[in-house]
Amino acid sequence: MAIARRKFDAVIVGAGGAGMRAALQLSEAGLKVAVLSKVFPTRSHTVAAQGGIAAALGNVTEDNWHWHMYDTVKGSDYLGDQDAIEFMCRQANEVVYELEHFGMPFDRLENGKIYQRPFGGQSQNFGGAQATRSCAAADRTGHAMLHTLYQRNVRANTQFFIEWMGLDLIRDEQGDVLGVTAMEMETGEVMVLQAKATLFATGGAGRIFQASTNAFINTGDGLGMSARAGIPLEDMEFWQFHPTGVYGVGVLISEAVRGEGGYLLNKDGERFMQRYAPHAKDLAGRDVVSRALTMEIKEGRGCGKDADHLLLKLDHLGADVINMRLPGIREIAIKFAQVDPINEPIPVVPTAHYMMGGIPTNFHGQVVAPYKTGPEEVVRGFYAVGECACVSVHGANRLGTNSLLDIIVFGRAAGNQIIEDLKKSPHHKPLPADVADRTLARLARLEGQKGGESVAQVGATLRKTMQAHCGVFRFADMLKEGVTKIGEVAEQAAQTEIKDKSKVFNTARIEALELDNLAEVALATMVSAEARNESRGAHARDDFPERDDEKWLKHTLYFRTGRRLDYKPVRLKPMTVESFPPKPRVY
Ligand SMILES: Cc1cc2nc3c(=O)[nH]c(=O)nc-3n(C[C@H](O)[C@H](O)[C@H](O)COP(=O)(O)OP(=O)(O)OC[C@H]3O[C@@H](n4cnc5c(N)ncnc54)[C@H](O)[C@@H]3O)c2cc1C
Repeated sequence: MAIARRKFDAVIVGAGGAGMRAALQLSEAGLKVAVLSKVFPTRSHTVAAQGGIAAALGNVTEDNWHWHMYDTVKGSDYLGDQDAIEFMCRQANEVVYELEHFGMPFDRLENGKIYQRPFGGQSQNFGGAQATRSCAAADRTGHAMLHTLYQRNVRANTQFFIEWMGLDLIRDEQGDVLGVTAMEMETGEVMVLQAKATLFATGGAGRIFQASTNAFINTGDGLGMSARAGIPLEDMEFWQFHPTGVYGVGVLISEAVRGEGGYLLNKDGERFMQRYAPHAKDLAGRDVVSRALTMEIKEGRGCGKDADHLLLKLDHLGADVINMRLPGIREIAIKFAQVDPINEPIPVVPTAHYMMGGIPTNFHGQVVAPYKTGPEEVVRGFYAVGECACVSVHGANRLGTNSLLDIIVFGRAAGNQIIEDLKKSPHHKPLPADVADRTLARLARLEGQKGGESVAQVGATLRKTMQAHCGVFRFADMLKEGVTKIGEVAEQAAQTEIKDKSKVFNTARIEALELDNLAEVALATMVSAEARNESRGAHARDDFPERDDEKWLKHTLYFRTGRRLDYKPVRLKPMTVESFPPKPRVY
């Protein structure tokens, strides 16, 4: 079958904050850039980010990047790579001012400077008093950011492929990446997009869990494509559960609520976080707060007739603060929890929120991985940034508002790296003869399959299994069983049948293609989690409750072939400053 081919300098899969920040750098440098997105760019999940973007501007309390770096290393439970963390925190002020100059409408303080609010894990003086570091546009920071970036990209002539889905990575015999195969979702047309540089910015994969704050499109496509092309996935056992998802629906209630002075209560009206984190209380690391909520429920102090949730109180902030700083939160509470937070607390539970792991990269956005049995090296032509990448700046637990920073810093850095790399290799490499074979085989399988389970059924089993076997607390027997069950789900996913093609032709097809990716992510997560015999950050093992730096201060690499695991050392040495050696993590 002849397939249409298009050539670009760079192809970016994903039009969230990460993809659009990288695209802007490239388009402004005069390169020919294609950006693919499953949805209209400004509907990417970045649009839902509420609380803010971290930068030590010091507009409200004294601050500097070195304190921010310390907090990020500690927040990561020492699994974060300290060179990358230094790189990110040092650039934070600059990239935020750059966004301001792009026209991003931040809230303002009385003196006209960018408004900042406190978030969990932010401290002054290396663990001292609470810092105030999150730059915000009310509780719609991601919305302001994404629209600003989209408009700048339109101005820079970035070419968008809207409602196009990337399907598979194209690699040649040397392991170099030469582009992607993609499908126009409306028509089903498949095309080869050839590129000198291919960048993945496909976002998270929170949809592997039943209760998630993530958009329906967050299905880990970039990870699935990478895994199928032989790239390992890093630190997939680390998933952040946000302490405050709306009870029963999972929609996020931003940590900004606690940053502005809201706090959590149990059924006795007790402010229980004082017991778990006497110093930081409700603004401890998210992993700490989520475990506290889970313990309260387990020990019978949950609220409601089933004692299965907690309450987030903010009425004491007053209607003015709520309406000015948290208008979106009020709207969400009224719509999804049927309570007006001006008068009543919001019922909340921990909810899957953020993937710390991903495609392994360095801090220039270059993907770094072994090819076949060779040593670890930069994969030529392949880059990844944003939530789909593991740099790793978040290690075992991400601090709130560090992700919006991550996507901007590394989006820009990857753009700069691609510009340099294309100066050295300005030509397209020839495409291999089997360029689209794998994609066509997957599509043929979907068309031809008979007698398999439905995509919806298999997806539901996957999400249920992940939720029950790989949640806030993890148990050896449940993980072991989970590996078997998710293995079965992956097999079923490979045999799903699209029923009634005439009625729901392409949506069903796309869901089936997404399920392939969800299954890759779920397997990588379960296998990596089962193997890590310690508790660190968001990975909390019932049978190994302590962090074990001697054996486990290392990154996991999951290889799809043979479901093999390997490990690589944490980069403890920063670029210019002294290392922060691991110590007990208390808030
Ligand atoms: C509700 C919510 C609130 C949050 N609040 C904050 C906050 O206040 N501060 C903070 O720092 N972080 C926050 N986060 C986390 C942060 O928003 C995300 O980690 C970040 O925005 C991810 O950006 P991204 O560019 O990597 O991906 P996304 O914004 O998710 O974009 C992914 C893009 O990839 C595209 N895509 C995916 N697969 C394919 C494919 N196969 N083909 C083509 N296109 C594809 C999508 O269409 C989309 O354009 C929040 C997250 C959520 C869910």
